Amino acid sequence: MSRVVKIGDLEVGGGNPVRIKGMLKTPTTKRESLVKEAMRLWEEGAEAIRVAVKEKKDVEVAKFLKKYVKVPLVADIHFHYKLGLLVAEAGFDALRLNPLNIYKKKEVVETIRAAKKSNLSIRIGVNSGGFKREFASEEALAKKMVETVEEYLKIFEKENFFDIIISLKSSDVLTTIKANQIFRKKFDYPLHIGVTATGPFLQGVVKSSLAAGVLLSAGVGDVIRVSLTTPSFWEIKIARFIVQFMKKRRFFSEIISCPLCSRSEVNLIRRVNEFQRVVDKLEKEGCSLPAKIAIMGCVVNGPGEAYQADIGVAFGKGKAAIFKKGKILGYTNEENLIEDLIRYFNN
Ligand code: SF4
Repeated sequence: MSRVVKIGDLEVGGGNPVRIKGMLKTPTTKRESLVKEAMRLWEEGAEAIRVAVKEKKDVEVAKFLKKYVKVPLVADIHFHYKLGLLVAEAGFDALRLNPLNIYKKKEVVETIRAAKKSNLSIRIGVNSGGFKREFASEEALAKKMVETVEEYLKIFEKENFFDIIISLKSSDVLTTIKANQIFRKKFDYPLHIGVTATGPFLQGVVKSSLAAGVLLSAGVGDVIRVSLTTPSFWEIKIARFIVQFMKKRRFFSEIISCPLCSRSEVNLIRRVNEFQRVVDKLEKEGCSLPAKIAIMGCVVNGPGEAYQADIGVAFGKGKAAIFKKGKILGYTNEENLIEDLIRYFNN
């Protein structure tokens, strides 16, 4: 099991739930939009938020954002270690350092000491894009990423600094998986997992799900940040899906619906989308909903899925049977589906 490291008050690793991390994409100068984005991330379920600190004036943003969102903030520092020193006293909860662009021992030591003094943890994050050369295989690149972290860690451990989280990311799924697997065999620092630079939305979702799915299924991964070329709230939504579907946490009611084929006589796509919107609204209002709700297009797999869900509906000719915990409670039709299902939630 990984050790526990804190980002502010948030415990990561050591059997704590897999944490969901977000990242702000709005320039720090656009304060109003920045707050809106941060609040949206928080509402969606981000438990820590990363902020890019490119220059001196970005450092002030932590105190400003903390008036609005109650989540720990992580300053992402590249190239200029002195920003790390400023950040340590500016209200941030953690730092992210990149060994490929802040590597001079004296500078790293100074940053570690500043973080220690202000009780900040540090994420050491290596992205494969930082190596400006080709590698013979995914494995060779993954090994190089881990070696880079290992060398960097020596400086931290010599300073008796262990509040460290590690990330090893590539835009390639297999490299990301391999690097994290190699690292986990050697060290117990918590791992922040995710694929980087994933490409367009659907590719990004699939790459992120594959890498995080493989890692989480083997118990590797303490915090997840999904990286997508989209507005940032999508990254939180997808991260929560991954974590829930890997059975690491439960955030929402899962709707099980069949793919629909020519056997079905119901407009299932429309009804499932409508139902999802209602479920989202009820969850936002704090209603307690069944863990699994099945909506199936016909009697082939319908009764089975509906039977196994907490509540389910299986369409037949002109009507649909509503099941709860394996028993038929009653019947409905396409038009009354949502109303009837919700009525039976609490019966
Ligand atoms: S449950 Fe029925 S309608 Fe849905 S995909 Fe299977 S056979 Fe087709």
